[in-house]
Amino acid sequence: MTSKLFDLKGKVAIVTGGNGGIGLGMARGLADAGADIAVVGRNAAKSKEAAADLAGRGVKAIAIEADVTDKAAVGAMAERVAREFGRIDILVNNAGINVRKPPDQLEVGEWDSVISTNLTSAFLCSKAVHPAMKQAGGGKIINIGSMMSIFGASFTPAYAASKGGIVQFTRSCACAWAADNIQSNAILPGWIDTDLTRRGRKEIAGLHERVLARTPAARWGDIGDFAGIAVFLASSASDFLTGAAIPVDGGFSIQG
Ligand code: NDP
Repeated sequence: MTSKLFDLKGKVAIVTGGNGGIGLGMARGLADAGADIAVVGRNAAKSKEAAADLAGRGVKAIAIEADVTDKAAVGAMAERVAREFGRIDILVNNAGINVRKPPDQLEVGEWDSVISTNLTSAFLCSKAVHPAMKQAGGGKIINIGSMMSIFGASFTPAYAASKGGIVQFTRSCACAWAADNIQSNAILPGWIDTDLTRRGRKEIAGLHERVLARTPAARWGDIGDFAGIAVFLASSASDFLTGAAIPVDGGFSIQG
């Protein structure tokens, strides 16, 4: 039985990029703890499939087609969730992309698209849900950073900038909205087996082996590894935790 501390029954969560990868792993955790879920993504078919998966866990789940870089679409998304579910308690800013090139080869359009998808989107979505969270008496914002929030790499200038920025954005929201009983925290995933990193493993020679060698857990992460942290940060179990950036990385970031 779920402890009351982790019980999300009656809560409503928005998960951007919740139609696959880490977002779906977190959405499944939130659904298993009882939260109703709105899955947000551009790929309508994939989002519909994810919503069916979540509904199969006994909660209400809907798919919303929206580009999180589009202010109007984000506003309409938040309005629809508030209208259909009556409240918004949890926002997971997870949508993200990467363009793997060194700074001298990266085009400004590529830079802009990574920054707007990974960072500006979190600002747009957080601002859009703030009134509903305030009205509900509080809320939980969970932003997805990366090992690139801490480290740099030659092939990730825009991605690392966006993921460093998301940690500072997380802290700013934590300070600004504490009085509204909104906690804002970041998760920093290590190397997780998803579509995003499957592409990376093809593009970066030796990446797979280097990750295994440096990770004390000696494996790539699985999307299921994000269910627990999502429930913790979305539930009353974390009510005095705000502005934190928590690595979920099998020890990658503490390996000397
Ligand atoms: P995936 O490629 O599997 O998922 C990315 C998700 O983001 C998709 O669901 C996609 O949905 C959504 N998305 C991308 N752009 C937009 C957009 N403009 N509007 C709405 N949705 C969008 O990758 P991961 O699961 O690996 O990544 C999820 C998050 O975790 C990202 O923020 C990533 O940076 C981060 N991360 C991943 C790591 C890993 O090892 N995998 C490590 C560290 C961080 P759709 O295509 O339908 O729009």
